[in-house]
Amino acid sequence: MRRLAVIGHPVAHSRSPAMHSAALAELGLAGEWSYEAIDIAPDELEERVREMPEQGFVGVNVTVPHKGAALLIADSLSETAREIGAANTLSFVDGEIRADNTDASGILQALPEQPRGRRALVLGAGGAARAVVWALVREGAEVDVWNRTALRSRHLCEELGGTPVEVPDATGYRLIVNSTSVGLGGEDAFVALPLSADSFAPGQTVADLVYGTERSQLLVAAEERGATVVDGIEVLVRQGALSLEIWTGREPPLDVMEKAAREGL
Ligand code: NAP
Repeated sequence: MRRLAVIGHPVAHSRSPAMHSAALAELGLAGEWSYEAIDIAPDELEERVREMPEQGFVGVNVTVPHKGAALLIADSLSETAREIGAANTLSFVDGEIRADNTDASGILQALPEQPRGRRALVLGAGGAARAVVWALVREGAEVDVWNRTALRSRHLCEELGGTPVEVPDATGYRLIVNSTSVGLGGEDAFVALPLSADSFAPGQTVADLVYGTERSQLLVAAEERGATVVDGIEVLVRQGALSLEIWTGREPPLDVMEKAAREGL
């Protein structure tokens, strides 16, 4: 059996096992490949990851809080992972640990239009925001970055590009991406973030990386105002599909993955 997993802390809530297991079944690989969720505490990360190849693991997805630490364990890094400073995909190949970041391409693929030349507002300065800012800057968008802790957004922009903003006028953006964790714990997004329902308008795209059982407060408001919305599941599916392609070399069944991720089977 070739084993795959998502590693995080906590990780029980992850939709990745359902999504990847459905994809492996659809590809006819279910008897040879498996995908599970493994909770690993930060102080055990390196030891546990180094043991994985001999336990039959071929690769893992890496989630909060290990995306930065995963880079340090890897023997080789893709350009994307190195520049973003975080890895969400590890592959165990020929005795080597290879690190990649598919979050960046995942968000770009989930967007309904090319961001080139568009004004974008990215909220957050954590690992997810780093991937989003890196991707949008590289694609030629004009990116403003807001974060609750302003020092972090300033540092992020110094490294990756974009302009830090402390009080954004959120009405003028073609694209708004929430890459904070606001919404996960039931926070009021219009209190925690510099947005109001008036920030949204037709012709605009609003993406929220946080996903749960229901549409987020931001996306409900954006949809009511006529904006196009992209939810966290769409991004999850795209980044997961890219990881699966790295490990198996097969074309991932996106529809099957999305259905399984939404149902959380
Ligand atoms: P992280 O590194 O822990 O960063 C968390 C970010 O959220 C920071 O910018 C933090 O601001 C901000 N934040 C937290 N609580 C806040 C509050 N009450 N008010 C305002 N800002 C707050 O996490 P991450 O890895 O970037 O992930 C962020 C979210 O994206 C998570 O919910 C994760 O599940 C989701 N995500 C989804 C996908 C997907 O495929 N859909 C992929 C990656 C991540 P401070 O700097 O001020 O603390």
